[in-house]
Amino acid sequence: MTTTPRIEIDLEKISHNATKLREIYASKGIGIIGVTKAVCGDPAVADVLVRAGIDTLADSRLENIKRMRQAGVQAQFVLLRSPAPSQAESAVKYADISLNTEFSVIEALSRFAVKTGVTHKIILMVEMGDLREGLLPGALEETVEQVIGQKGIVLVGIGTNLACFGGVKPDEENLGHLSSLARDIEEKFGMTLRYVSGGNSANYDWFMSTPDVGKINNLRLGESIFLGCESLHRKQIPGMSTDALKLVAEVIESKVKPSKPYGDICQDAFGNMPDFSNRGLMRRVILGIGLQDVLVAGLTPRTDIEILGASSDHILIDAKELGLKVGDEVEFNLNYGALLSSMTSPYVAKSYCGGS
Ligand SMILES: *Cc1c(COP(=O)(O)O)cnc(C)c1O
Repeated sequence: MTTTPRIEIDLEKISHNATKLREIYASKGIGIIGVTKAVCGDPAVADVLVRAGIDTLADSRLENIKRMRQAGVQAQFVLLRSPAPSQAESAVKYADISLNTEFSVIEALSRFAVKTGVTHKIILMVEMGDLREGLLPGALEETVEQVIGQKGIVLVGIGTNLACFGGVKPDEENLGHLSSLARDIEEKFGMTLRYVSGGNSANYDWFMSTPDVGKINNLRLGESIFLGCESLHRKQIPGMSTDALKLVAEVIESKVKPSKPYGDICQDAFGNMPDFSNRGLMRRVILGIGLQDVLVAGLTPRTDIEILGASSDHILIDAKELGLKVGDEVEFNLNYGALLSSMTSPYVAKSYCGGS
């Protein structure tokens, strides 16, 4: 028997999703970058994306990019988060392209690029209302001018990120604005922007409904490749697999017990005051997995059981009519947060199926 807890990754389904998304977006001239941060830059998954025709991979962590490079993944690598000044040297060493918003960081990248005799490509991120990273649109032109003068640095595009921090929906207005900024930069500086990168998995509805994508020619996709859904409403994208990944945990205790804790009630392990209603006796099952392994709130059981709660190392289940015994396995679907956390946890084993 394989070990638990484990995450099972169906490489065939991921490959299907990647191919399908590439085709969907290509129908209006948009190329995609595969974002690997939700799977911690897992080289087996990265290889599948490359074989599905995605030649550029992006991650917000240099450690993940390094991991993929060292495993021999043949792709161009993008650092998705603005490099910290202390990471400028490794950013130049491991990433071909980085997303940037601070000129002082670009200067640092330039120094290391010159020192090591390489060119480092950058995409300038522009603020379009979500209020995470980005130059204010009014500062873009001046920054482009400064960047053009930096040795060892090539400006290859501009981009924006929406629906991440502020939940702002990608629409005709904000993406139209990005397009017009791209047009202005190209005219003013007589250059072609290889990337006008309009966003992430939240851009699907905009893409499907827009009569004209304008200058937007790229999206950076993670969630929709792995979970088969867009990320504004978490709706399935037609024809995509939503079950490419599952989490498997094992029953370590199974007993009929009361549903309401008894005794004097004080704080639980995380400082909350628990309040459980009395539902009589129930089959309470404990799984050998907890908050140190996964964001439990992001799990959905694949069978008819209910998650009652969790502590660091235990998930409590109402097993209802399911006769779960010690040693039985229980399967869950994962949302983005649950995927990210379980892929990151060293306690969760990773197993693969469907690979060629
Ligand atoms: C995480 C991230 C993405 C990918 O987002 P998904 O919703 O997983 O598609 C794209 N761009 C940036 C800057 C990110 O940080």
